[in-house]
Amino acid sequence: MTIYDLTLAELRTKLDNRELSAVEVAEAYRARIAATDQDVNAYITVCDESAMAEAKLADQALAAGEIAPLTGLPIAAKDIFNTAGLKTTCASRILENYIAPYDATVIARIKEQKAVITGKLNMDEFAMGSSNENSAFGATRNPWNLNHVPGGSSGGSAACVASRQAAAALGTDTGGSIRQPASHCGVVGLKPTYGRVSRYGVIAYASSLDQVGPITRDVRDSALLLQAIAGHDPADSTSIDTPVPDYQATLTQELTGLKVGLPAEYFIDGLDEDVRRAVEQAVATYKELGAEIVEVSLPHTSYAVACYYLIATAEASSNLARYDGVRYGVRTDQAENLIDMYMQSRAAGFGAEVKRRIMLGTYALSSGYYDAYYLKAQKVRTMIRQDFLDAFAKVDVLLTPVAPTPAFTIGEKTNDPLQMYLSDIYTIPVNLAGTCAMSLPCGFSAAGLPIGLQLIGKPFEEATILRTAHAFEQATEWHKRKPEF
Ligand code: GLN
Repeated sequence: MTIYDLTLAELRTKLDNRELSAVEVAEAYRARIAATDQDVNAYITVCDESAMAEAKLADQALAAGEIAPLTGLPIAAKDIFNTAGLKTTCASRILENYIAPYDATVIARIKEQKAVITGKLNMDEFAMGSSNENSAFGATRNPWNLNHVPGGSSGGSAACVASRQAAAALGTDTGGSIRQPASHCGVVGLKPTYGRVSRYGVIAYASSLDQVGPITRDVRDSALLLQAIAGHDPADSTSIDTPVPDYQATLTQELTGLKVGLPAEYFIDGLDEDVRRAVEQAVATYKELGAEIVEVSLPHTSYAVACYYLIATAEASSNLARYDGVRYGVRTDQAENLIDMYMQSRAAGFGAEVKRRIMLGTYALSSGYYDAYYLKAQKVRTMIRQDFLDAFAKVDVLLTPVAPTPAFTIGEKTNDPLQMYLSDIYTIPVNLAGTCAMSLPCGFSAAGLPIGLQLIGKPFEEATILRTAHAFEQATEWHKRKPEF
């Protein structure tokens, strides 16, 4: 048995019956990170010392019988979550040395359970990107093939879980940033419904779209980690005060009679043949499992990417105003006056993609263009949401590809932002609609790269997608493969 191959659920059993200690687990991960991260570059900060200290505390809790579901389990977090005492960079030069004075609510929740935080993970700067190439700390590489991207923006999170550098990770998803990298790295990524998980202490990109979720090796672990982080938080006014169901309890329910919708607009030209084949195979598996397959339509799908890039950039231009060298961010010492100081600090601190988004968003919000762009995008967003509600009047879940292609090579799309934006064509509509969706492994390309399947659920029906995903996982072996490198 290799410690770092165990899932959260398997580790839980072994910690509980004293086959392993939390310190042994933390040491195994420390060695694994040291041996592999020069290739993968998943971590921005590795928590050697604090992780060992947390593991010791977890062992004391275990000895005292004070066991929470995550006690002693090694979990890493995207570098977008504020962590007291550790750097939180958002993969940006402008926050290179930033140490938040408090923990994000999701970090506080896993710490309360005495999880062991192994480190802070690489990402696209301010979560803007689909390849992890926009990081100020170097690109993360795909553990299945180091010449390929891991996806983004939670690329470090997905690569870390796939390469066994943590048992699970927390990511964020604004337009696909949990699901697309999970798909490209062959792991399970869940974007909960907007409002299900607190965003307090999560560095904001586009506040009406951002949501926190788990990236794990399998579906059961996804349920376990979602359980720990979900629920109302008075510190986040957009978190919803509604009960959180017991996700493990319904995980193994049969699928007989479940209605699975296939949106016609998602199976179009431009969909890679390997991806199409894998997803069609998954449809066949669901039929065998007793699900009823229904064709549905999401008629406004083709407007989603354009709509997203107006709303997300508009919100980003406002959210990123705080990095001015005064309130937040590295301040230049070259400036001649205040305005010059703002301009130089921001010019030096932000990367090219972040600047592009700030300019796009500022333009969309400017007087004279506001009605034509921002307001219009909001109206389109309402129509996209309505498409989903209409489809969900007929079916329980929707089944689609996650990304149009498997992971592309490093450098392939860096000079063509539009091509990069199109890699989120199947994930963005879910964020605009505010509902929940999951990516889970459903096959491999001819070149040996993982392919993900997307299951989209009704708002606050994470339990339904978890059990729909779990049944597929039980019937297939894809999640058992791991990258060898
Ligand atoms: N790739 C999309 C973007 O660049 C989504 C990113 C995300 O979900 N954070 O905006």
